Amino acid sequence: MREILQVRFGEIFLKGSNRPYFMRMLVERIRNAVKELNGHVWLSDSRVYVSDLTDMDEGIRKVSKVFGVHSLCRSLELPKDDFNAICEAAVQLVEDHHGTFKVNARRSDKRYFMDSPSINMEVGHYVLEKRPDLTVDVHNPELTISVEIRDQAYVYTKPIMAVGGMPVGTNGRATLLLSGGIDSPVAGWMIAKRGVSMSAVHFNSPPYTSERAKEKVLDLARILSESLCGIKVHVVPFTDIQMQIHEKCHPDYTTIIMRRYMMRLANAIAHKERAQALVTGESIGQVASQTMQALTCTDEIADIPVFRPLIGLDKVEIIDIANKIGTYETSILPYEDCCTVFTPRHPATKPKMEIILEGESKLDTEALIQAALDGTVVYDL
Ligand code: ATP
Ligand code: MG
Repeated sequence: MREILQVRFGEIFLKGSNRPYFMRMLVERIRNAVKELNGHVWLSDSRVYVSDLTDMDEGIRKVSKVFGVHSLCRSLELPKDDFNAICEAAVQLVEDHHGTFKVNARRSDKRYFMDSPSINMEVGHYVLEKRPDLTVDVHNPELTISVEIRDQAYVYTKPIMAVGGMPVGTNGRATLLLSGGIDSPVAGWMIAKRGVSMSAVHFNSPPYTSERAKEKVLDLARILSESLCGIKVHVVPFTDIQMQIHEKCHPDYTTIIMRRYMMRLANAIAHKERAQALVTGESIGQVASQTMQALTCTDEIADIPVFRPLIGLDKVEIIDIANKIGTYETSILPYEDCCTVFTPRHPATKPKMEIILEGESKLDTEALIQAALDGTVVYDL
């Protein structure tokens, strides 16, 4: 008998003829997640199994974060012919349990010498004999002991819920505009959860933003990297663009114009990365540059879709997710962002396109964009 992890997947079930591809990707992602724990991962009977983990708890933590995994079970694996051992395994699993239980048997091996109702009865009787303090409740048990008869027998109790989603890499590529704030890491995580590989762009404005502020963003990317299966961060020098906007454009319009330049650069980097969409952490009305009118003005710059997965979320809801994915504590460290440098006193919440275009006509956009791209440094995390 040995203890293994039985991994269940969620939406991959929906994938008709593409299902083998999604399964292969999921196995690869799980394999990658447990490689430092020497985990052995295999696919059998449409289930993924993980064995030989050097640290079971750490293995569970890692596998439950792999996008595409719906839930997992710590499961005892035994030879199916040894029915007594199956009964003993069931007793072992109720060691700490008090109250009601039921046995739920399933056979994918239909030639097995007992049918499911008989397995339920026999295992249930055996458990009651060893643990007369327990009672059976078939309708509303406090604990279900599952017995699965496949190529081997698997006995387990409660499933552990995992993250869900789809394996990274099965749904294209996107480029995330990553600031040091709370929102954008959450936005990137949410899109990656749908199976999208992610790269990131960060704008910094030295000397107005510090080296430590940039390091904070790279730390956020490192935290995300485990779930995202790696992330490349393009750090783009943004000082010259901001200075020129500040000098030449209408003071109420500096933020919106700055955001359009961010979009231009992110769009160019997305093309280099062969990404099919941009992702931002914007939410309707959160700040002046996120009114519907302002979002329309920045959207217009991109020639690929801009995904804003937080668009309808409140800050408290975003903070909940940030806590869950482990980025919150880093996000709230007090370092400056280029957006907070030169903020206008009365940012336009209903920006007019003529004023934006008039401001931008005073800037040598092509040269500014090229210089920023030339100065970009890429970190592979
Ligand atoms: P966040 O909490 O993610 O920092 P925010 O609340 O500070 O966002 P804004 O400053 O308006 O809001 O930024 C909106 C979005 O623009 C961010 O979610 C992010 O996608 C992008 N963004 C802002 N600043 C930067 C930056 N310095 N580099 C890259 N992207 C940025
Ligand atoms: Mg925000």
